[in-house]
Amino acid sequence: MTLDLTGRVALVTGASRGIGAAVALALADAGADVAVNYRERAAEADSVAAAVVAMGRRAISVAADVSDGAAVAAMAGTVAERLGGIDILVNNAGIGLVRGIDDLTEADFDRTIAVNLKSVFLCTQAVLPHMRGQAWGRIVNISSGAARGAGGVGPHYNASKAGMEGLTRGYAARLVKQGITVNAVAPSLIETDMVRSGVASSPARIPLGRFGTSEEVAQVVLMLIGNGYMTGQTVALSGGMAFN
Ligand code: NAP
Repeated sequence: MTLDLTGRVALVTGASRGIGAAVALALADAGADVAVNYRERAAEADSVAAAVVAMGRRAISVAADVSDGAAVAAMAGTVAERLGGIDILVNNAGIGLVRGIDDLTEADFDRTIAVNLKSVFLCTQAVLPHMRGQAWGRIVNISSGAARGAGGVGPHYNASKAGMEGLTRGYAARLVKQGITVNAVAPSLIETDMVRSGVASSPARIPLGRFGTSEEVAQVVLMLIGNGYMTGQTVALSGGMAFN
């Protein structure tokens, strides 16, 4: 089956690098116009947007801290004005502050929940009026194997991703009659800055013997966007590390 997203507008949060950048490019490859959100790395976001334009699609890069409701509302307004209403939302932006139980502070906990979990609520609420109005929408949340397993970051991260999967099911149940599907992807150990900067220095724990790639995650995101019958699900990819 070939997925044709021509004429669709997608917003990918945290798309300046890593998994988000690969998702943005895969969406463009399928025909979508893409808004590339980032927090601070403007040059990297601009080059992802330029790569989308080079594929013949429309693209903008848009700065916003997705944990900030006013910034998210402004971002959704900018995307609507420059590209059109958002048909596809990929909640990918996230942080993985590696902490042991005794080093974890209240500030670390609050920041992680705000960036990884509250952002999903804020961005979802911002795109729903347009999706409901046209009775079609696709939302994909980038969770983690840490939602259900031990993970290598810390319990604050486990909680943020488990909460994200709760939001996924909660929204899926309430939006299914309105043509909107909400699913999650749960990768483990994809070779990005987040992993290289501390979660795992080598793929020794992965039965397959290598890290996953951002493009492999993007492939699953596109599969979920293309499937109108699947909703409220989490699809894991972990090189054989976990089967739940
Ligand atoms: P990454 O390489 O560290 O990239 C993180 C991205 O999120 C960057 O684009 C960053 O923007 C953006 N970002 C961070 N905080 C933000 C904020 N407050 N507002 C807006 N954007 C923000 O991470 P990654 O490995 O690609 O991870 C992407 C997602 O996959 C995360 O949700 C992560 O938890 C999840 N995940 C990753 C793995 C893995 O093995 N890599 C495994 C499971 C789940 P700037 O570039 O501007 O800083």
